[in-house]
Amino acid sequence: MLNIVLFGPPGAGKGTQSQLIIEKFGLLHISTGDLLRAEVAAQSPLGLSAKEFMNKGLLVPDEVIIGMIDNKMRSTKDIKGCICDGFPRTVDQAVSLDKIFANNGSKINGMIALEVDDEELTKRILLRGETSGRADDQNESLIRQRVQEYNEKTAPVAGFYKSQGKFASINGLGTVEEIFANICTEIEKLQK
Ligand code: AMP
Repeated sequence: MLNIVLFGPPGAGKGTQSQLIIEKFGLLHISTGDLLRAEVAAQSPLGLSAKEFMNKGLLVPDEVIIGMIDNKMRSTKDIKGCICDGFPRTVDQAVSLDKIFANNGSKINGMIALEVDDEELTKRILLRGETSGRADDQNESLIRQRVQEYNEKTAPVAGFYKSQGKFASINGLGTVEEIFANICTEIEKLQK
């Protein structure tokens, strides 16, 4: 299996690049943001509690996310691998993810990080908000809160993968095609 963590702040382009990666490499796309939004839309108990955090630009508690990923992995069979988009977002999530994959006889092969500065992120997310319909993409202070959560709680996850020798970083500025080409180079290294 080939399991990749696509990492980067909100607005870095993870969703766009994930789509291109899954088409080219035949991997499964797992996005915790998408899973959470589906729970919110279904008004499930998990969705109702997660919404409180999402509406404030805060991270949803680890135990909720870890349970959700565990369920997803248990219900997924016969895949070539997956793209983890939007998780792990804390070091505790990263530790749990290693255990979940180990239980499946698998592992995370590498993390690919998209680097984009904070000002560019805010601009991009506001632009995305014009069409995404996401309330959290349309309010500048909420976007800044999400970026702050990323810098405080999520950025340290890079260190977790660096210490395992599994970290690669890519410039997230440029055309979608340029960035994708650089991602492909990194993925091909992981396949060797
Ligand atoms: P995203 O679509 O990845 O930007 O996620 C939207 C929102 O969902 C975030 O602002 C968080 O509130 C929540 N969320 C998504 N993934 C996670 C995660 N792995 N850990 C905690 N909260 C998450």
